[in-house]
Amino acid sequence: MRQIGIIGGSESGVGAALLALKEGFIPFVSDFGRINESYKKVLNENSVEFEESGHTFERLSQSEFIVKSPGVPTTAPIIQKLNDSGLSVISEIEFGSRFYKGKILAITGSNGKTTTAGLLFHTLEKAGVNVRIGGNYGYSFAGIIAESSPEYIVLEISSFQLDDVDTFKPYISTILNITPDHLDRYDFNMSKYAQAKFKICKFQDSNDYFLYNAHDEESKKLLSSVNTEVNKIAIDTDQFQSGIVKSDGSLMQVALKGKHNLYNSFVVKIYAELIGLTEDQIEAGLSTFVNLPHRLEIVRQLDGVTYINDSKATNVDSVFYALDAMTTSVVWIVGGQDKGNDYSVLLPLIDEKVKAIICLGADNSKLLSVFEGKDIASTHNVEDAIKMARSKSQVGDTILLSPACASFDLFKNYMDRGDQFRNEVNKLK
Ligand code: ADP
Repeated sequence: MRQIGIIGGSESGVGAALLALKEGFIPFVSDFGRINESYKKVLNENSVEFEESGHTFERLSQSEFIVKSPGVPTTAPIIQKLNDSGLSVISEIEFGSRFYKGKILAITGSNGKTTTAGLLFHTLEKAGVNVRIGGNYGYSFAGIIAESSPEYIVLEISSFQLDDVDTFKPYISTILNITPDHLDRYDFNMSKYAQAKFKICKFQDSNDYFLYNAHDEESKKLLSSVNTEVNKIAIDTDQFQSGIVKSDGSLMQVALKGKHNLYNSFVVKIYAELIGLTEDQIEAGLSTFVNLPHRLEIVRQLDGVTYINDSKATNVDSVFYALDAMTTSVVWIVGGQDKGNDYSVLLPLIDEKVKAIICLGADNSKLLSVFEGKDIASTHNVEDAIKMARSKSQVGDTILLSPACASFDLFKNYMDRGDQFRNEVNKLK
């Protein structure tokens, strides 16, 4: 009997259990906390045994190997104990990739993963390619291949998903950028975080492509560690300063605004070219994409003021690009759970564009002291934040929620924060 233990009972763990069944294993799912009812239903319907609110080491130790969900840190006691007992622990994407026969199009980075993965999927699907999207985006990789076998899978990948891979081999991979985020999972060590991201190309070979950011300091440092046989493509922003130039010299139409999105669009263009799409097919995708909410989402225009929800901007770098993309004077709503942020990189953009700052967090003291001397106000409440911002704005301005912080101090998550912002803005008269 080929038993395997699966740690974590949500999207990745349940997807891994379904794939395990398909491949003739007997999965046992074990979660430290409670398993969501909808996932329990799937497990029950497929007769997968599971436990919740704790791990039974004795049972798990009888497994052939262990599949770890990305939400479970490698330092979790159960993972350490299973490792110490000699069991191999692999990640859910490693498990999936062992059974997938098609080509993986993998995307990681500190910012832009969801946007770029979604844009790539949209462009390929529109061109008629047999493609699915998953990983950190919607369905888990293992869950997708448990039920289908597409020619390509676009995978949005976080560094946690790369924790335990030992054969994972994308056809095309990219690290969009490496800037400080989630450092708590990497002992506050930037180089460990960067090395985790570089696992995306560790097992690629001469048949594969690795796209890297030619201006990213951390990426440049680690480039020499990449297998010399891998086809490396530098993404140089100088190639598309004012737009993506087409073969006839005109500029390609792209739907997403801002320098960062021009970068994301250019990356998608390279993937699409390698897959064989024509310039027209690529433009058809790039020009018609509608991004998910909370990423520079234009909510409304009222009294000549534009309200933008960028709640997904949970670190300083993404706020940098949000402010950079603004073409008007801005009232900036910022704050939340600080991640050890250094706001100094934003100062030139703030001096140039931000007329007032509204701090929206449980504890705004750091922001108030960093931006002392500016027009700055503080609140713990979304409705008040919007009222304050409105009173500071005039015709032609933009009110931008781009928090640079996590949301868990006042909200369930960044989506809840963005939804509340949107709802309140839509109530304004
Ligand atoms: P991720 O999935 O990596 O968190 P998203 O696509 O959800 O990335 O975008 C997160 C935030 O980062 C948004 O505020 C978005 O505007 C910003 N962003 C998107 N692409 C980039 C990029 N290439 N560089 C910097 N910031 C970006």
